[in-house]
Amino acid sequence: MAKLVLENISKIYDNNVTAVSNFDLQVEEQEFIVFVGPSGCGKSTTLRMIAGLEDISKGDFYIDGKRMNDVPPKERDIAMVFQNYALYPHMTVFENMAFGLKLRKFPKAEIAERVKNAAEILGLEPYLDRKPKALSGGQRQRVALGRAIVRDANLFLMDEPLSNLDSKLRVQMRAEIAKLHLRLKTTTIYVTHDQTEAMTMASRIVIMKDGLVQQIGTPKEVYDKP
Ligand code: ADP
Ligand code: ADP
Repeated sequence: MAKLVLENISKIYDNNVTAVSNFDLQVEEQEFIVFVGPSGCGKSTTLRMIAGLEDISKGDFYIDGKRMNDVPPKERDIAMVFQNYALYPHMTVFENMAFGLKLRKFPKAEIAERVKNAAEILGLEPYLDRKPKALSGGQRQRVALGRAIVRDANLFLMDEPLSNLDSKLRVQMRAEIAKLHLRLKTTTIYVTHDQTEAMTMASRIVIMKDGLVQQIGTPKEVYDKP
């Protein structure tokens, strides 16, 4: 479980777009932080900087006191869940969940054990031999979560993981992710443009607009205006 510090980080893309400006944030262990804001406000860019998929233009980023700016993505103890699931269509559910561990040269038995555990947590045991196209949207999203869980990472980054689901399934998966967090307690940063998701899931909410942080607080502090 990781503790994060973003110290004044900014992202200026090559085309001179300032996507994120002087972002300051401390995330405590086991927190579930939600970034909320309209499309284009810099949420994904911030996640990508934390994951190491984008360079940080200015500022410093620490995990558990270690400066991370120049640490390659594969060496960060971070698991990411994407909006589009990014499942490999030619692989089974088992293989999809196992892939990241295989890349990291985990022993076969350990991979099987971890995938089995994740499948049990997510109710995916009956589907391990299926290909993604033979799954429902909710099941696919569970596989994407499973791929993150098996990594046993210190930090989860979730980029609008529910926005491709219909509203009923969204509500259900929201509750499942909240339950998962209660169980695993992995520090999580979750990006969404949906205020309801933020209110129901977050320990603290970061409201962003035009690359700037507008407000940081608990759901009560942010939305319960007198
Ligand atoms: P959000 O996730 O909140 O929708 P993004 O972080 O994707 O916002 O984008 C923030 C800003 O940075 C937007 O103005 C977007 O157009 C711009 N942007 C995002 N990615 C790139 C890129 N690779 N090159 C140039 N500009 C980008
Ligand atoms: P990791 O354990 O590093 O998360 P993944 O198997 O999730 O390993 O993915 C490795 C890389 O391949 C990531 O950068 C991810 O975005 C990308 N990736 C994963 N699935 C797909 C896919 N179906 N199509 C294209 N790229 C993918």
